[in-house]
Formats: sequence, C-alpha cells, structure tokens
Amino acid sequence: MKYISTRGTDTKEVFSAYAIKTGLASDKGLYMPNTIPTLTLQDIEKLIDSSYPERAASVLARYLDDYTYEELLEDAREAYSKEKFSDFPAKLTDMKDGTYMLELWHGPTSAFKDMALQIMPRLFVRALRKCGEERTALILVATSGDTGKAALEGYRDVEGTKVKVFYPIDGVSRVQKLQMQTQCGSNVSVSGIEGNFDDAQSGVKEIFADEGFAKYLDEQGVFLSSANSINWGRLAPQIAYYVSAYCDMVKCGAIKLGESIDVSVPTGNFGNIFACYLAKLMGLPIGKLICASNKNDVLTEFLSTGVYNKNRIFHTTMSPSMDILISSNLERLLYVTLGQEKTAVYMDMLATEGKYVLSGEDLEKITKDFVGYSSDEERTAATIKAVYENKNCLIDPHTAVAFYATKRYIEDNKAERRILTVSTASAYKFAADVYTSLTGTHPMDELEALSMLETLTSEPIPAPLRDLGKRKIIHTSVISKTDMKDAVSKFAKE
Ligand SMILES: *Cc1c(COP(=O)(O)O)cnc(C)c1O
Repeated sequence: MKYISTRGTDTKEVFSAYAIKTGLASDKGLYMPNTIPTLTLQDIEKLIDSSYPERAASVLARYLDDYTYEELLEDAREAYSKEKFSDFPAKLTDMKDGTYMLELWHGPTSAFKDMALQIMPRLFVRALRKCGEERTALILVATSGDTGKAALEGYRDVEGTKVKVFYPIDGVSRVQKLQMQTQCGSNVSVSGIEGNFDDAQSGVKEIFADEGFAKYLDEQGVFLSSANSINWGRLAPQIAYYVSAYCDMVKCGAIKLGESIDVSVPTGNFGNIFACYLAKLMGLPIGKLICASNKNDVLTEFLSTGVYNKNRIFHTTMSPSMDILISSNLERLLYVTLGQEKTAVYMDMLATEGKYVLSGEDLEKITKDFVGYSSDEERTAATIKAVYENKNCLIDPHTAVAFYATKRYIEDNKAERRILTVSTASAYKFAADVYTSLTGTHPMDELEALSMLETLTSEPIPAPLRDLGKRKIIHTSVISKTDMKDAVSKFAKE
C-alpha cells in the first residue's frame, strides 16, 4: 500500500513509514492510503476474543504494510500495557438505555490522546530506521492542553527523539499546566508562551516553515517533526478502538455480528471521528457518524449548509480541546468523498479567504454518513448533571458535548440502531467545571476542585492526576513568542 497527498500537486507515492516520519506532504496536503483495506465480518469475528493489543495490531497491519505484524504487536503490547493503562484501553459501558459509552482516557495523561500517542513514538522510531534516517527528530508541539502532555509522556526517553512543547500561559487549565510542568524525562522541554494558543501555534508554524533554520538544524544532526493529528501515525491507531468497541458490543450481546451502530464523537480537529469513518469504509458496520461540537460550531454549520467559514468569533469553552476553527482532518474527508482536485481547490480557498462552499451534490455525499450537532455551555453543564444524576456516571465537558449530540440525534431520528458515545477525557481533568456543573458553586481553587469532586461523587481521582500539586515542578520557563526559535535552537544542541 502506498500513501499519497490529499491535494495531488505532490504526486510522490510513499510507504507508511515515510508518511509517519514526515507528517505532511510537500504540497501541504495530508497523507492518505491510496486504497482502503477491508475488514470482513469474518475478520471481525476472529477479533472478538482477542486482547486490545491484538485487535490494534490487526487493524494497523492492514494500513502499515511496510511493518511486520510482529513489530506492530510488540509496539501495541508495550503501548497498551497494564502499567500504561489502568483499565481496558477502550472500555465499553452499557448506559442501559440502548446506548453505550466508549471510554478512551484510562492512559497516562487521562485523555484520549494517549490512545495514539502511546503507540505513535514506537511506530515513529521504527519509521526512522526504515527510512535510514540517522538524525535526531525534534518533535515540536504547540498545545492548548491535552496534546502537549500526551506527546511528552509518549516520547519521553524514546531514543532518537526530543520533544519541545509550547503552551500559552493564559490558555491552559491549572491541571493541564501542572501536568506539563512536572513532566520528567531526559529528552523533554516545556516552555510557557506569553500569549494565547494562536500565538504559540503561529510561532511553531513559523519555525516549521523556516528553511534556513531547518538547514541550521540539519548541520546539528537534527530535523523537526510534529505529533499532531494530521500525522498518519496518530490517526491510524485510532481506527482500532472503533473495531474493538464493535467487537465488545457483539461480545456482550448488545448487537448481532453485522448489525449497524451509530457513533457520536466529540470533535475538534476531526481526527477521532475521521478514524471512525475509516473503520466504516473498511467494512465495520457503522450507520451515521454524529459530529458533536461545542459553541465553536463551524462543523455543525458545514454539515447542515455546506459552508465552511472560519471567519467567526472564537469562543473559549470548558471543552478547550474542541475550541478549534480549522478542523485540519476534514481535508481527509473531502479527499475521500470528492477527490484530490476539489480538495486542493477548497483548501486553497480556506487559506486565502477563510471560507469555502460545497455544491449541493457534494454536500449530499457527505451528509449521507455524517450529521452535526453543537452544544452551548449551559447545555453541556446540564448534560454533565443529567448523566451523573440519571446514570450515576461522571463525564467530562468534552464527553458531555457528545452525549448532548446523542440525545438530539435520538430525538430527531427515533434511532433504530444502537448508539455508541465516545468519552475522551477523565472528568477530573476539568474538575472545577464539572464540579460547578453538578453543584452550581465554583470551587475557589482548581486543584482543590479535584478532591471536592471526589468527595462529592466517591469516584476515585485517576492516579495520573492524584497529588499533582505535590509533584516537583521541573519546567518553569516562560518566554515571549519572539524567543521561541532561540529556545528550540538551544534545546536542539543539548
Ligand atoms: C483532542 C480532544 C478532542 C478532539 O479530538 P479531535 O480528534 O481533534 O477531533 C476531544 N476531546 C478531548 C478530551 C480531546 O483531548
């Protein structure tokens, strides 16, 4: 299998290892496999009694065919081990109302990013070897919270790599900041940026685009790479948990093998939901994909009108990992449904005008499989409360957005199929907002909110978030955004 750019100006066909090593095609398109592998009902049946690493390796082997199954299984076993995941990595819960929940946050940073970022560094190191790359990879990340910590935890002490994370000092929660500041590892570095997420993000983009700097780093034996969800190495592992959840739904008798389910996904950069779509294209029986957004409803508007317009007010919400105006992986959906030529045109319009409009016919191709709903802050808070009170289940604000979408979808469709709602973070990662949603009172201190929430609900704080305030703070650097390149340069030499 070969990988090609979604835009088609770069016509090179590459192996998956190269796509994982480089991240982005040279025409700024994203890498996609040139064919979608199949997954038959018989294949699924065989996985029903398998472990999670076996399920993951089996799905990955269909895409990364320049890796052996044994390599993938070894990586999956290490990534999804008992030491890394406190519970089954893709835990299914029966909500007892015809719907099920898929919990993806039992990893080392308590958010679903771990599902990809625990295995991706392993795939990445193999990719460097397969490509004959001898330089050190410096993974550069701008984060609004969850990705930074998950990348640090995934790449720490991984041979041949270094990780540099920039976060906006005014744009992450106290828990998220402490998670990053207390990160250990011999190859990691974290700096706060004076400014907001856009400042950090645009600073990183400038560094990536600076050819002179790349040449300078090359002379030091270093090259830059990224860990965000436009990299195929992050997307591919996410397909596996949809297959796994389906297997478990068959196993527990929720559905018969071959019966369809609908899936509701809290969406930001469109990576998670696109992985679900790939599972569907492979043959996993999935009906509709429900794209759940918060008050930043650019995708909801797109799916109902065909207009993608990022020229709008940016809302800061209690589900910050979904506060996004440009959903990068949507480009992959355009590519799959409309082809390279149209994708290149639309992406060009997005870059120049911040907007593009699909024809009615093109929109129909997409809405055959996708439907969008958005939830505002009040509805999200009310959903956290309702799910806790009615189901005795503690959910985080991102997950609540998805539960709200599931509810709306059922109301609109008298749903005939089982619905799977994806849960992407531990409620404790956003303890203050969850506590406020449940009680109507604001905790004075974000860290204290964790123990207050634990006392209120008797639901234990996950180990990675326990005693966060008592851990040693290692990374205290705060710099101006004009000093980011210098910081990278210094770190490259260390
Ligand atoms: C990253 C993230 C999301 C959004 O996932 P995408 O793949 O960007 O759509 C949702 N919830 C949480 C908790 C996240 O960290």
